[in-house]
Amino acid sequence: MSRLEQIIDLEQRFLLPTYNRYPVGFERGKGVFLYDFEGKKYLDFVAGLGVNALGHAHPRIVKAIREQAARVIHISNLYYNEYQGQLAERLCQLSGLDRVFFSNSGTEAMEGAIKLARLAGHKAGGDAKSQLVALQGSYHGRTFGAMSLTGQDKYRKGFEPLLENVTFVAQNNLEALHAAVNANTCAIVLEPIFGEGGILECSEEFLLACRTLADHHQAALIFDEIQCGLGRTGKIFAFQSFGVVPDIVTIAKPIAAGLPLGAFLSKEHFASAISPGQHGTTFGGGPLACRVGLEYLAIVEEEHLLENVVKVGGYLHQQLEELVAKYAATRETRGRGFIQGLALDVPARPLVEQALAEGVLFNATQDTVLRFLPPFLLEEKHVDKGIRVLKKLLGKKRKKSGDRVIGSSGDLKT
Ligand SMILES: *Cc1c(COP(=O)(O)O)cnc(C)c1O
Repeated sequence: MSRLEQIIDLEQRFLLPTYNRYPVGFERGKGVFLYDFEGKKYLDFVAGLGVNALGHAHPRIVKAIREQAARVIHISNLYYNEYQGQLAERLCQLSGLDRVFFSNSGTEAMEGAIKLARLAGHKAGGDAKSQLVALQGSYHGRTFGAMSLTGQDKYRKGFEPLLENVTFVAQNNLEALHAAVNANTCAIVLEPIFGEGGILECSEEFLLACRTLADHHQAALIFDEIQCGLGRTGKIFAFQSFGVVPDIVTIAKPIAAGLPLGAFLSKEHFASAISPGQHGTTFGGGPLACRVGLEYLAIVEEEHLLENVVKVGGYLHQQLEELVAKYAATRETRGRGFIQGLALDVPARPLVEQALAEGVLFNATQDTVLRFLPPFLLEEKHVDKGIRVLKKLLGKKRKKSGDRVIGSSGDLKT
């Protein structure tokens, strides 16, 4: 048995069968590349689902982890550490919000954010002010609170009963939004750009309406920027690209460069609703993760990575547009910066599997969408390589350029 086969065999015997992994494993990475157990190199357009924004084995991250691990990794939240306050200060400076709570994951950040909104809601309007409004097609995580806000049956089915008092609204549907929000609403919760949901953006008009309604009803406007935040749109916070400021924002994926860390940031008005003992965590905000979080933000700034996201993201968008003009199996491009999608008329997973053989990692979501969440270090020559592989795999060209028949199915080379 090969090394990979041994690993697969062991997992099949001892792990809960929750993951549908691709038939490949990785031993190490460097920059925008990963290497499998045979030493084969792969160009990474997935970045660990948006976590590895600094690529793999960034020298400054490696150094910070080495140094801090030799000093202290964990002390619990019974005591002060050097870095939690510093990282909170930096996040507040960058966002314009006032206070931070650190968790271990995105899902946990969502849980904390909802708890805070419920507390503030009850203070403002009594027990009845507990209603949550979320979007159909959204994804917020797998715990009961986050799952209850996730507007997709496939994640909810089998786990009922879920959290009560959640109303779902179609993305960008102003009428449905107005019908759903009322005096008993304590929070409107949304991703400015659906990530897992297929890279679909909220319109500025819709976000503005959410802002106005939340203000009118003293509800919290909560943005889940766990996937689209921290640089992926070309701004540190996605809301800065849309010009609508939320009351609470959740972040996670890239913040500690692969170490588990999440957070929610809140305006003082909502933050002041909570008191000591009402929320907490053993691991969250530890000295190692927070020091690495500070290093992440410093690297993004000092290496001018947001400029790169805008420049190379623009190039990627243009190249994907050309594919849509030429290939029958493609439908449309979505997103911006380094959170982009290519919607297909055919299943995306076979294409992702075929790209593995070509040494390129893509991600499929919502069955027919190819999702691109590359490291911020990606260059135009890497985009060219990815596009070359896609051209090889997309199969038939359209009859004439621009001749896009919606719903037609192109066939994939197998
Ligand atoms: C990944 C993700 C989550 C969940 O984060 P975890 O770290 O997996 O718990 C929540 N919301 C969005 C938008 C995400 O992309």
